[in-house]
Amino acid sequence: GSSAISNAMLYEKTEQLAIKDSLTGLFVRRYFFERLKEEHRRALLNQKNLSFLMCDLDHFKECNDHFGHQGGDLMLIQFAEILRQCLKGSLLARYGGEEFAILLPEMTKAEATKIAETIRKTVEKSSFNIRREAVNMTVSIGVSNLPDDTLDVENLVQKADQALYQAKREGRNRACVAIS
Ligand code: GH3
Ligand code: MG
Ligand code: MG
Repeated sequence: GSSAISNAMLYEKTEQLAIKDSLTGLFVRRYFFERLKEEHRRALLNQKNLSFLMCDLDHFKECNDHFGHQGGDLMLIQFAEILRQCLKGSLLARYGGEEFAILLPEMTKAEATKIAETIRKTVEKSSFNIRREAVNMTVSIGVSNLPDDTLDVENLVQKADQALYQAKREGRNRACVAIS
C-alpha cells in the first residue's frame, strides 16, 4: 500500500541525507573519504593520475559578520553551484564549514591547476546580490597530485592543505600547487 511507498521514499531521503550535505547538496566529508580511498586504489592499480583540490572561501568570517549567517549560507550555496558548473561529473564535497574538496581522477597536475584557476576566476567574476548588495566572493585553492607529489592518500590531502595555506599567506584569491 501507500505506506510501503512512503517508507521507501523516507529510506531514500535518509540515505541521501547521510551522503549529501543538506545546505549545498555536495557530498559530505565522510562519504568523500570513502570515495577518495577507492579512487586512490584505482589510481595506483592502473597507474593513473589522481589530482586533488582543496578550496577555502576567503575572509568568510567577515562575510558572515556583514551579511549575517543566512547571507553566509547563500554564499556557500552559490559557491557550490559554481563548482557544479565548472566540474560536471567530478566528485565534489563540502569538507568543512567553508572548505570544499574536489577529486579529479585521471587528471594531471597541470590539468588540475588549470581547473583550479578556472574556479578561482569564475568565483571572482560571479556577480550576485544579498539583500540588493553586491557580494565580492573570492576563493583560495591548493592543488596536489598523485604520483607527482606523493603516492600516499593522506599525504595527498596534506599536500593540498599546505598549498592552500600558502595561497592564503600569499594574499588569497589564488591557486597554489603543492611542492613535490
Ligand atoms: P580565511 O580567508 O583565512 O579563510 O579566513 P576566514 O574568515 O574564511 O576563515 P575562518 O576559518 O576564520 O572562518 C570561517 C567561518 O566560517 C567561521 C564560521 O562561523 C563560518 N562558517 C562555518 N560553517 C558555516 C555555515 O554553515 N554557514 C555559515 N554562514 N557560516 C559558516
Ligand atoms: Mg576555513
Ligand atoms: Mg576561509
